[in-house]
Amino acid sequence: MRVAVIGAGVIGLSAATCIYDQFHLTVPALEIEVYADRFTPHTTSDGAAGLWQPYLHDKGNAQERFWNKETFDYMLEHLNSPEAQEMGLFLLSGYNLLTQPVPDPPWKDTVLGFRNLTQRELELFPGYRYGAIQPSP
Ligand SMILES: Cc1cc2nc3c(=O)[nH]c(=O)nc-3n(C[C@H](O)[C@H](O)[C@H](O)COP(=O)(O)OP(=O)(O)OC[C@H]3O[C@@H](n4cnc5c(N)ncnc54)[C@H](O)[C@@H]3O)c2cc1C
Repeated sequence: MRVAVIGAGVIGLSAATCIYDQFHLTVPALEIEVYADRFTPHTTSDGAAGLWQPYLHDKGNAQERFWNKETFDYMLEHLNSPEAQEMGLFLLSGYNLLTQPVPDPPWKDTVLGFRNLTQRELELFPGYRYGAIQPSP
């Protein structure tokens, strides 16, 4: 079986890797070829900061919530592995600062330790009245 993947950014390479992982044992003659006009280090993916946080999310889309959790759990599983450094994996604290109140995001229980900021913490960020933190343990 021959599989052609178009695109050599994070999506194309992840798709190629997933197809390989899922089928290489059951399809012995599997051939996966990646076609693209740009390869690393010239894709958009090479320039991304690599932060994980869904920022456009479809409220009520259970599939999307599942994908988000699956991705986060995959990274957590590899956090203490020998490959973590090469994968560029590490936990980082981050603030989301807001001027208007918004509901808690659907991924708040996926990440570690999500909580809303206290008044005292918000005083550190003039101009913002609401916020949340995902602390790094
Ligand atoms: C400055 C910046 C910071 C970012 N930071 C983050 C971040 O912290 N976290 C995050 O999740 N996302 C971030 N992003 C977004 C993220 O980079 C993209 O969503 C992601 O890289 C898209 O991956 P991709 O594989 O779809 O596209 P790309 O990396 O753009 O890869 C597309 C591939 O398809 C090929 N291709 C396209 N059209 C054709 C064609 N017609 N013929 C042949 N080949 C073709 C290209 O050559 C390339 O190989 C950031 C983006 C930018 C610009």
